[in-house]
Amino acid sequence: MRAEPALLLTADWVLPITAPPIRDGAVLIVGERIRAVGPRRAIETPSNTVHRHYDGAAMLPGLVNLHTHLEYTNFGPLPERQPFWEWMPALIRRSHQAPTDFWPASASAGAGQLVAAGATCVGDIVTFGPGLAAAQTHNLAGISYVEAVGMRVRARLDEQMAELTARLGRSVRPAAGSRRLRVGLGPHTIYTLSTVALERLGDLAQARKLPLTIHLAETVEEVEFSHSGRGSLAEGLATKGGHDLIETGGCGVGPALLADRCGLFEGLSSRQPAIVAHGVHLDEEEIALLAARGVVVALCPRSNAMLDTGEAPIQRFIEQGVRLGLGTDSLASNESLDLFAEAAAAYALWQRQAGSAFDPRAAARRILRCLTIEGAQALGLGRELGSITVGKYADLAVVALPHPGDTDIAKQLCTGVRADAVRCTVVAGTIAHGAVS
Ligand SMILES: [Zn+2]
Repeated sequence: MRAEPALLLTADWVLPITAPPIRDGAVLIVGERIRAVGPRRAIETPSNTVHRHYDGAAMLPGLVNLHTHLEYTNFGPLPERQPFWEWMPALIRRSHQAPTDFWPASASAGAGQLVAAGATCVGDIVTFGPGLAAAQTHNLAGISYVEAVGMRVRARLDEQMAELTARLGRSVRPAAGSRRLRVGLGPHTIYTLSTVALERLGDLAQARKLPLTIHLAETVEEVEFSHSGRGSLAEGLATKGGHDLIETGGCGVGPALLADRCGLFEGLSSRQPAIVAHGVHLDEEEIALLAARGVVVALCPRSNAMLDTGEAPIQRFIEQGVRLGLGTDSLASNESLDLFAEAAAAYALWQRQAGSAFDPRAAARRILRCLTIEGAQALGLGRELGSITVGKYADLAVVALPHPGDTDIAKQLCTGVRADAVRCTVVAGTIAHGAVS
């Protein structure tokens, strides 16, 4: 029997993330998995090993994009800032006008762009369906969240829940063979779903043990609506069928407390937490709640800047021990699916908020962890990927360093590179991006 071919990748630096950086490092891959990692001279290779060296580069785990919408890729890139409440109706209008063959091509383009940018793992919102197949085709790891949206009218709720359950049934089947990708549930927001719908969706997620994500506290209007059932958001919804928070005059608390009351953070474990996207406008009680519940915030700083929705309180999240990851959101609200650019934006935001308390080295290391192991853990995959560890999936990104002689690799990666520096992406042991050298 012939031995399985092995692949040895070497680079100036290997960053396992959960272990110290290795100068002149090497990663030996056999099949889909990492067989060995260490200094190049210490790795023994089988006779049938193919070797590739990347000069002036660092190798790190494949990146985790914790919040995106692959299906919207070809609606972008968004060229300039747009106000959120003008952007969203325009997006809905464009979605209704798109032909059905738009979505598969768009989602596939998005998955390809992610891989080219060094990402191998994703928390992806699937609104129309093809996002799941695109993630599977590119062998991405993570969770495809089937989205629930527009469920506000009580009389229609049973029918809509039945439709959603049927969609989940269709979605779960093709993913069943993959250990890398699972299906989850993505309630859209607290304003496109009634509180009754949110409760039913929380129950559904618990009953089916589905991981869950929701856009939360993205705008000040959402917060006002949650508290009082009033404001410009309420006025807009009133003309489109209403919402039970308008009738009740709000729930008197912010979106995170509302989501918790509706049971969206129930039935979860530290290995399968809920993920909230954005988390821009949370009060202290809500930040403490997210920390206590182990809920992960997917920070999307560039999308927030593009739609002018505000800045997430990264420093407060860090101080309070909230779990964090990074997401690009979609190209309908960002200029690229580049997690290095997202990291640079998060770093700059954190630096500004922390002021004199900012520790550049610690911040860069933490952001790299958010992009890798903490992102993987948020998606329930911390044992399978997110670090360069023997036995894990060989999901890797090799990135050209702007200053190879500078030993602060984490800082370079968090502030000095963009996706075009990615020289190679390995997805489950296969080189999926990067010219053969
Ligand atoms: Zn989103």
